[in-house]
Amino acid sequence: MTGRKQKIAICWFRRDLRLADNPALCVALDHGVPVLPIFIDDQGQDGQPQQGGASNVWLHNSLAALHKDLNESLVLFKGTPRAVFEQLKAEFELVAVHWNRMYEPEAIARDKALKQWFADDDVEAHSHNGSLLFEPWTIEKKDGGPYKVFTPFYKKGCLNAEPPRAPLKAPQQINAYEGKIDGAASLDELNLLPTRDWGKSIVEGWDISEAGARARWDDFAENGLFNYKEGRDLPGKPFVSRLSPYLHFGQISPHQLWAALDHYSQDRNVEHFRSELGWREFSYYLLYHFPTLPKENFQPQFEGFTWAKDELRVKRWQQGKTGIPIVDAGMRELWTTGYMHNRVRMIVASYLTKNLRQDWRDGLAWFEDTLFDADLASNSASWQWVAGTGADAAPYFRVFNPVLQGEKFDPEGEYIRTHVAELRDVPKSYLFAPWEAPKEMREKYGLDGTKYPEPMVDLKKSRQDALAAYDAHKNAR
Ligand code: FAD
Repeated sequence: MTGRKQKIAICWFRRDLRLADNPALCVALDHGVPVLPIFIDDQGQDGQPQQGGASNVWLHNSLAALHKDLNESLVLFKGTPRAVFEQLKAEFELVAVHWNRMYEPEAIARDKALKQWFADDDVEAHSHNGSLLFEPWTIEKKDGGPYKVFTPFYKKGCLNAEPPRAPLKAPQQINAYEGKIDGAASLDELNLLPTRDWGKSIVEGWDISEAGARARWDDFAENGLFNYKEGRDLPGKPFVSRLSPYLHFGQISPHQLWAALDHYSQDRNVEHFRSELGWREFSYYLLYHFPTLPKENFQPQFEGFTWAKDELRVKRWQQGKTGIPIVDAGMRELWTTGYMHNRVRMIVASYLTKNLRQDWRDGLAWFEDTLFDADLASNSASWQWVAGTGADAAPYFRVFNPVLQGEKFDPEGEYIRTHVAELRDVPKSYLFAPWEAPKEMREKYGLDGTKYPEPMVDLKKSRQDALAAYDAHKNAR
């Protein structure tokens, strides 16, 4: 009969680029009609933010892998979801549309409006939980307000709440719609890769796929987890999972990790790893309840605080040319691998916001552009935490000493030597503070600025200046 439209259910992939433990996919398949798996690149459309360069590289590779895992049935679009769904509605009978939730303020607004639009048209549209262990609106203090401090949030809130659901198995078979779709884009047409070679070199060593995420977890579970509590602070050692970009893009879910941890004894390392997943939950929780977190000081007393705006300082920090070895190692690890160890993230963030007195939002923006795991929630919450402006933050006057941090957490200098080639042969005794080396040694290794820069600022003085600026601000209020 002419005019009868093909019935389909849509699974809209977003930050859940996996087949296992994907509630939206499972439910879409339950309708018993072909499922159309789609991804819409709506960056910059209708108020949606653009993500950074590294994230786009990760996304490109993830979509290629997901397409393969879906037997080449993933359909890509570029544009607003509304326009894409309008077109699909004209072409098909939409039995239902399913997606897993996102929590960024713009994404929430977009999804709410879409749900209403579908409802007005009698199209079933359902959102599911695919990326958080605890929905932010389910955890609240006794007085009904949101937590602002991590420990009670995690211990009283999360650990006493309904336990996270068990992960779902990957569907055994996917009955995917296989016809041609008008308006679909090719992966290259999404233009996610940069023109520079950086986009190629940065992915070396990463298997950007769902299988890659599982392999990463297996490796960490076997080799890193049992050393995690102390080992997680040592950037030169393989004791962290490096799962953050996979978690961000959903190639693995926190539910899968939470359940996998049950297979190990409840030792302090396992509990500690769970609590770090808890920090991820806390960041999303804060973003959900305080959507201005990426833009405004969480603590209002910092309003009007003057940051020493200096583009050159920020640039040298970005390039890993500050003259402080552990800081430069971190910034170069970031640029070459799309990742930076957590301990070093704290050190470089403290250096930028305290010693250089640059606005935490400048650091946030650079991380947003260069981290594979750039995540509005964790990035904003963490920058504000280090800057001292955030929820449950380290107080402003706690300034990391990057020399002591290097000596303590990279005692053999493996991490610095790996990332700062100019310092590879410098003896350990001067590796953390090369400006203190005798003149002959400084000349021999080019520590006088000929190969490796002298410190941009004096650490002691810049710390005092930062504290003085803070005191002045406090007293002026
Ligand atoms: P692991 O130690 O193996 O931890 C496992 C998982 O727990 C991580 O993958 C991550 O999802 C979560 N986690 C661990 N620590 C934290 C934390 N402090 N806050 C939130 N979640 C955590 N993390 C991001 O995912 N995206 C960001 O954009 C981001 N920006 C940051 C910016 C700054 C200034 C700082 C200090 C931290 C930032 N973090 C961010 C948090 C943390 O550094 C990373 O999650 C962690 O280093 C990722 O490495 P991993 O997977 O090896 O961590």
